Amino acid sequence: MATPYLDKLNDQQRAAAVFGTEGPALPPPLLVIAGAGSGKTDMLAHRVAHLLVTGADPRRILLMTFSRRAASELTRRVERITAAAMGTPVAAEALCWTGTFHAIGARILREHALAIGLHPNFSIHDREDSADLMNLVRNGLGLSTSETRFPTKGTCLAIYSRAVNSGAPLSDVLRDHFPWCAMWADHLRTLFGTYVTAKQTQNVLDYDDLLLAWAQVMADPDFAAHIGGAWDHVLIDEYQDTNRLQARILTALKPDGHGLTVVGDDAQSIYAFRAADVRNILDFPHAFSPPADVITLERNYRSTQPILTAANAVIAGAAERFTKDLWSDRASADKPRLVTVATEALQARYMVNRILEDREGGMRLKDQAVLFRTSSHAAQIEAELTRRNVPYVKFGGLKFLDSAHVKDLLSVLRLARNPRDRVAGFRVLQLIPGVGPTAAGRILDALDLAIEPGAAWGDVAPPPRAGASWQGFVDTMTTAVPWPAAIGLARAWYDPHLDRIHEDAEARRADLLQLEQIATGYPSAEAFLTELTLDPPDATSDQAGVPLKDEDYLILSTIHSAKGQEWRSVHILNAVDGCIPSDLGTGSTHELEEERRLLYVAMTRAKDHLTLGLPQRFYVTQQSRNGDRHVYAIRTRFIPGGILDRFEAVSWSPPVIAGETRPTPAPIDVAASMRAMWG
Ligand code: ATP
Ligand code: MG
Repeated sequence: MATPYLDKLNDQQRAAAVFGTEGPALPPPLLVIAGAGSGKTDMLAHRVAHLLVTGADPRRILLMTFSRRAASELTRRVERITAAAMGTPVAAEALCWTGTFHAIGARILREHALAIGLHPNFSIHDREDSADLMNLVRNGLGLSTSETRFPTKGTCLAIYSRAVNSGAPLSDVLRDHFPWCAMWADHLRTLFGTYVTAKQTQNVLDYDDLLLAWAQVMADPDFAAHIGGAWDHVLIDEYQDTNRLQARILTALKPDGHGLTVVGDDAQSIYAFRAADVRNILDFPHAFSPPADVITLERNYRSTQPILTAANAVIAGAAERFTKDLWSDRASADKPRLVTVATEALQARYMVNRILEDREGGMRLKDQAVLFRTSSHAAQIEAELTRRNVPYVKFGGLKFLDSAHVKDLLSVLRLARNPRDRVAGFRVLQLIPGVGPTAAGRILDALDLAIEPGAAWGDVAPPPRAGASWQGFVDTMTTAVPWPAAIGLARAWYDPHLDRIHEDAEARRADLLQLEQIATGYPSAEAFLTELTLDPPDATSDQAGVPLKDEDYLILSTIHSAKGQEWRSVHILNAVDGCIPSDLGTGSTHELEEERRLLYVAMTRAKDHLTLGLPQRFYVTQQSRNGDRHVYAIRTRFIPGGILDRFEAVSWSPPVIAGETRPTPAPIDVAASMRAMWG
């Protein structure tokens, strides 16, 4: 049949898009593995569109991506292609199953909760909730006294999460990743056992449990066949960043691989720190018999050749790599720039100047991005943008959910759904005047056996100093109202507390109204809470939360959250040793290799212009085990000396404003400073 809607694709992409779709049978398993910007995601959109145009039922298609944003971009592309092909678009966003592994897992577990021994009202804990529960359990066991120097709640959670996701024995996890905690192995084992029991009795699943529970129920072949049978086609983007549990779930969904399409790039695997395993994608073909077909793509459509040459030089140093170098026919005289500046503040000023200059030249803010390794590294650039009134949206940064008032309101909703959720309970009860941790614990103990929402709250003796506010609380917990009125009820109860707790109550009040607005777009409290917990909205320069609509704004993003995306101009902060690679990432070859891939991912986001910042004095914060400090920075080791001449090293000092006299800072003599420090 004629497929003019596939004309845009090159031969390899087209072969992948139509692979196995000729007959009535489901296509055999397919792996598309290729470098950055080679049109993998674009091919995937065309493949889904082709399936729909040729009669596949959109409700029997499951599309898994690495973020909700990526999922909705993909389905929008599918809708555009099907609209052009058929006259009217197939409502892919509404009809196909789309989302992250975690979100899909939550949906399945919720739908089948009773059958698999879960209560359908289960709460989902985000990382902060999990750390809070870990802390409650730790304190309960008397492990965390100041004398014992037991690992922090965050470290405990990281160890637990690593063990769960990798499936490795605790002793191995400690030896390989947390050797300084190895002496606590026995206590940690007890802690984790108690933590798991606490989650069960409190009817709570954490982030890792969503995959773990999903993988566990899929071990039952009948159940797996039932779930897997719900979809004909299961397609996954960014497969290099999945972990072993996800691979297990996938093969349980489609044991013979028919209907499976996975797409990715081993050179972009950057989530090993969360137990992602690049072997998943490399081993995929041999998980089936006969082995899956493999299609590779070679042409990069995204970047100019100079950008690609620089990125290729970075990844060429990798110890192991499957995907090959790409080529581009986009010649350009504009080489990637390595900009040496004295400090991070000057780096921020230089980049904002460039960004505004380019905007004057016609490049929208939306076509530009600033990428960084860790959210905290953006502080200087955020300050500079705010000072100069440049709107921005920050991906993967301080999440909307992290603000106390948002967390409070969501906890009220959560507690009303699941009174066993002690983390939510402690949080909400302590909002009531006169209720501290002890009273909160006592109230929750009195409730422990009640599992139905609202049950038993009325029987609890009111705390002595709570007064009339107790009845208001009980009413909020027990009044049955349909969604989304429930969030209005929760907000009405919480609202008067804002003035008591926060100085900037008005701004927070506005946030909560916005949150209520967002909530009305969801079919149920569960859907709303799940999505917000797993994939919260990004922070904006305006207010945390809702993206600035119809406006031009700059994107700030961690490199991890920039995966799969592209901008005409990309600025990378702190291309220095100590940042990329981070000083925590240099412990082992594996970690170092992941750092190299991180830089490769960052550089390959750029279409036309790429700028790397090299502040000579780099402030190491949070990442350092020894506390904050300045380091004298050198260029990241991943940019080989041999290609440095392809970069223009630009020295930059602040512009002198007419009439203003400013002392010129003396250039930093790094060698002399080192000698002064170490003799
Ligand atoms: P990443 O590895 O970063 O996720 P990718 O391989 O998924 O990259 P895409 O995002 O699909 O690459 O494509 C990169 C860019 O190339 C997009 O702007 C896309 O529209 C464009 N592109 C892809 N295929 C073609 C093609 N055949 N002709 C022209 N442009 C294309
Ligand atoms: Mg992609």
